[in-house]
Amino acid sequence: MCVTMKIIDVIVRDIRFPTSKDNIGTDSLHIDCDYSATYVTILTDDNNLSGVGLTFTIGKGNDLCCKSIDYFKDFIINREIDELEKNLLFIWYQVTDHSQLRWVGPNKGVVHLAAAAFFNAIWDLISKYYNKPLWKYVLDLQPEELLKKVSFSYINDVITEDEAIEIIKEKKKIIPNNLDVLESTIFPAYTTAAGWLGYSDEKMKKLANEYLQKGWTHFKMKVGQDIERDIHRCDIIRNVIGNENILMVDSNQIWSVKDSIENINELKKYNILFFEEPTSTDDILGFRKIKDAHPGEKLATGEMIQNKILFKQFIENNSLDFSQIDSCRLASLNEIIPVLLMSSKFDIPVIPHAGGVGLCEYVQHINIINKFLFSNNTFFLCEYADSCSEHFENPAQIINGSYVTPTKPGYSVKIKDNSLNKFDYNTGVYWN
Ligand SMILES: [Mg+2]
Repeated sequence: MCVTMKIIDVIVRDIRFPTSKDNIGTDSLHIDCDYSATYVTILTDDNNLSGVGLTFTIGKGNDLCCKSIDYFKDFIINREIDELEKNLLFIWYQVTDHSQLRWVGPNKGVVHLAAAAFFNAIWDLISKYYNKPLWKYVLDLQPEELLKKVSFSYINDVITEDEAIEIIKEKKKIIPNNLDVLESTIFPAYTTAAGWLGYSDEKMKKLANEYLQKGWTHFKMKVGQDIERDIHRCDIIRNVIGNENILMVDSNQIWSVKDSIENINELKKYNILFFEEPTSTDDILGFRKIKDAHPGEKLATGEMIQNKILFKQFIENNSLDFSQIDSCRLASLNEIIPVLLMSSKFDIPVIPHAGGVGLCEYVQHINIINKFLFSNNTFFLCEYADSCSEHFENPAQIINGSYVTPTKPGYSVKIKDNSLNKFDYNTGVYWN
């Protein structure tokens, strides 16, 4: 039985890691990423219980997300955790449909990224309150209780709560009862970390070889600055990983629809599992044109799909083949779960976006939730890139190219105090 506890404060820190020094994260449009986090801590009147959450940005603008959190704090300060849990969806609407802030959104951009950090911290707090890893807290909820926490606004023309209940109830019949079975589940991953666009041929070759030796079988490479160089890099990586391993490419939105159709024509001979962000990720109809031009190829997108409404359109319009939800772009599980449900209904595999700061730690929970509560698809895969993992108290663990199920209470993104103190953009010794 949990003792009632109250929220007493919300602290926000602007944390930035200087990853641009090593070209980590570089792609066709983002050439100098300093992996950053809007880092939220919810304090309670119990010194041993706090909620931690973040959203991921790549440097400048992280301060804007931090500032947005200031507008949300009052919705939870002085509330008891039981009450917070019961009113979670109401509070989510207070934030995401705030009558003034929605003018600088709504449900998109800086304020929505900030909402993700804020609600990620709340889900962390609640699952720690029950002393469970986040995935276990969610799996243990009754379907009706879970759905009371998630938003169906603007999507009930495509999925209703009744349909969602049915999906979950059917899946719940086959969830393993034995916790050991759940905890020993591993979840297949692919690595992006060998193929950043700013890496030399030699560095890419060396890293791809290293990952191969560590048991990885799925590799993703960045493309999109110059098609001749893309072809050259595909040659290199195929030579290293052979034809038996899986290759994906990501052009990070740089191509027009027309460029994309032409360039996919050049690259498809490399047997590409999917082309990621082949054009602007707002262009639902453009994606469909690319798919129609290349019916044999598959498209993936999602890390910059700004809300569940656009996901609805992508899915319903058959504009994507893989949903790459982002744990910090959508406004936390309140919005991610509806996307997982729509993906389930349309039998679209979910391959979460990860890497950055804390994304791997987050998606390891979402993968388990999706696998056991929602998806009936048999294809499971998730991105992994171990950037910044050294800063986490309990970073995501990988064995033989698969995620290991996290077992500690919460949502797994606690950053070490010495990393926070060193890389705080306002007060840290690194930046000042
Ligand atoms: Mg990507």
